[in-house]
Amino acid sequence: MRGGGSPLHERDSGHAPVRVLSVILLPTTACNCNCTYCFEVRDDSRPYDPSWPSVLRGLRPMCEMLGAETLRLFWQGGEILCLEPREFREAVEAATRAVDGLGIKVQHHVQTNLLLYDSRRWRDVLMPLVNGKLSSSLDFPNRYRVAPGMDGEAYLARWLDRRAAAEDDGFEISAISLASPETLALGAERFHAFYRDGIGLRRVQVNFPFPTPGRQFAPLDLDQLAAFMCDLYSLWVASGRDLHLSPFTLLESSLLRGYPPTFCIYSYTCAADLLAIGPAGEVAQCDSFLTTYREFAYGSLARGEARDVVHSPRRRQYLERPLRLMRESECADCEFLSVCFGGCPIRAYAFGHGFFARDHYCSVYKALFRTIVETNQSSERVERLMPCA
Ligand code: SF4
Ligand code: SF4
Ligand code: SF4
Repeated sequence: MRGGGSPLHERDSGHAPVRVLSVILLPTTACNCNCTYCFEVRDDSRPYDPSWPSVLRGLRPMCEMLGAETLRLFWQGGEILCLEPREFREAVEAATRAVDGLGIKVQHHVQTNLLLYDSRRWRDVLMPLVNGKLSSSLDFPNRYRVAPGMDGEAYLARWLDRRAAAEDDGFEISAISLASPETLALGAERFHAFYRDGIGLRRVQVNFPFPTPGRQFAPLDLDQLAAFMCDLYSLWVASGRDLHLSPFTLLESSLLRGYPPTFCIYSYTCAADLLAIGPAGEVAQCDSFLTTYREFAYGSLARGEARDVVHSPRRRQYLERPLRLMRESECADCEFLSVCFGGCPIRAYAFGHGFFARDHYCSVYKALFRTIVETNQSSERVERLMPCA
């Protein structure tokens, strides 16, 4: 499930050795949809390679080298429900088997566009695995998430229908919402009302897009986006924070309470404890880089290169990026350095600023960070949030 913005992973802190290693798994790049903003280079001809479970053996040496105590697996695609349930179960068993005997706790998360959700096929496979939680994507308004024979409206109707089926089966559905120019034009109030009151979701993550070579892309006006995010934050606070709206909750923890950032974009480096494995065993930093910007590949587990992957010069570049930014960019003087660290590499590189440049959305982050701090400074609430304030 893509769309110009991968799910942004909420993570535990990560410096060697890592406590929690998060791995994004793409056993397939086939998909039933054809979204305009999709950054995935898709291959619908081969939904599943039976040799893929053998690739997962590489998880073991990677966990050992990185000192992982918990392995958090994010099953994605393409569209993960394009697999047969039998194939998915086989892949899950292979991943679990790979770390057998290491004393590592394994957690599973599933990211799906939901359109192929079918109780008969998927309920009993997914429910025990994901503890009743499925992550999906839905934009407001829906213009760019489309499927063959379905425009944005038809897609929305189908998504709501499948969401109802999944909820009837006991799943809680959360959604990533990718901001578009139309989102900004409609404004924060309608956005908030749509998710909270209109369709009644309880967990939403706002995500910002980035361009992919050869794909249509409508850039967001940064001032408009900053105003939208600040308005949305204020609305969210005024409405009692009853919607779990990411990244606000996590940013409040960092900015107001001093907890380490746990969102990949705002962490010291996403490379410390996160990586992605593709259908041919290729490894990259995350799904954003995996099939699109292959020049950043770490190596391949299909060739048994777990050690080379972990020690890849490419991976070292990610690890070094915050230090380079501190030395060479205006991040050095930024009052928010300790909660942002230069932001996301893909959101710097894809916009043409360079890998060792600050995130394209820097000005939006700064405006939002300031609004969060000022909103809470000007209310009694900061005293409750900050015991030492
Ligand atoms: S649902 Fe499919 S086409 Fe749409 S963004 Fe996700 S992977 Fe791409
Ligand atoms: S490049 Fe890093 S920060 Fe950006 S989306 Fe991927 S994991 Fe997150
Ligand atoms: S807000 Fe901008 S200047 Fe500050 S650390 Fe983030 S990217 Fe760098």
